[in-house]
Amino acid sequence: MRRVAFIGLGRMGHGMAGRYLDAGFAVSVWNRSKDKAEDLIARGARWATSPEDAAIDADAVVTMVADDAASRAVWLGANGAVTTAKPGTLAIECSTVSYGHVLELARELHGRGLVYIDCPVTGLPDAAASGKLTLLVGADPADLERARPFLEPIGSSIRYFGAVGSGTVYKLINNLMGAIQIAGLAEGLAIAEQAGLDMNLVLESIQNGVAASPQVLRHSKRMVARDFADATFTAALRHKDAAYAVALAESLLADKPVMGRAAVEAYARAKQAAPDDDEGKMIELVSRPK
Ligand code: NAP
Repeated sequence: MRRVAFIGLGRMGHGMAGRYLDAGFAVSVWNRSKDKAEDLIARGARWATSPEDAAIDADAVVTMVADDAASRAVWLGANGAVTTAKPGTLAIECSTVSYGHVLELARELHGRGLVYIDCPVTGLPDAAASGKLTLLVGADPADLERARPFLEPIGSSIRYFGAVGSGTVYKLINNLMGAIQIAGLAEGLAIAEQAGLDMNLVLESIQNGVAASPQVLRHSKRMVARDFADATFTAALRHKDAAYAVALAESLLADKPVMGRAAVEAYARAKQAAPDDDEGKMIELVSRPK
């Protein structure tokens, strides 16, 4: 039986860990807050007392945590997974982390004999729970082949970008473009509301016009209805992704990433107002009348 250690049971990780149970893997789980693991334990997962405990005897360690600091802690911290993971173990990092962190972590884990797979994802929590994520992979081709049986339960599509780090480069540009679009949409809708336009007609025009991406289509309905009951992606995470992307842009481009910086600034405000609220609540920040 294949053995997976799954670390990080937030909105995304909880559903992903459940997919390994559904697929018949032996699964050990760890999360900073144990309550999120209870139903997975009831379904047969082993509760590990630390990432280090989770990684004992694992064929693959899969992580899905918030950011660079969390990733560093669960892999390399005092009770990190690297302490017990055996040489040859697959180290599959699915969190959205910075490019610099991916390179540093890969170097560190390679040095200890682990096989590093850069594997950020796209898709919302419902896609995570149903195994329909798109996996954005950066890895040595032979390592990807070894990792495939551990990727199939969580992803319906694997996009292979090349060397370690390249999956993260794509993930960061994807989410930076999303941040720019969502922040821009909020401003556009706020202007239309304050100018007194019929918002049903505005929505219909957006849905049938050419300016909207799938991201904009989804958020326009939620923003106009102020329907943010279930936060799927938080302001804090969107800010983090945009900031990591801008840092990458600044290392590669001669000119300042003007749009990216504006999106980081917009999401810094949203994060300050309510870090755990849905990213779409940006509309509430920008729609206050003059
Ligand atoms: P989330 O619900 O906020 O969960 C964050 C996870 O990270 C939780 O398990 C949390 O533990 C853990 N964590 C945070 N800080 C930690 C630390 N210092 N040490 C150890 N664990 C820590 O976030 P999410 O939406 O699942 O997102 C997880 C990752 O997937 C992020 O990198 C995000 O950018 C990416 N992502 C999210 C989506 C989405 O639609 N939500 C889509 C694609 C990619 P606790 O439970 O104890 O707080």
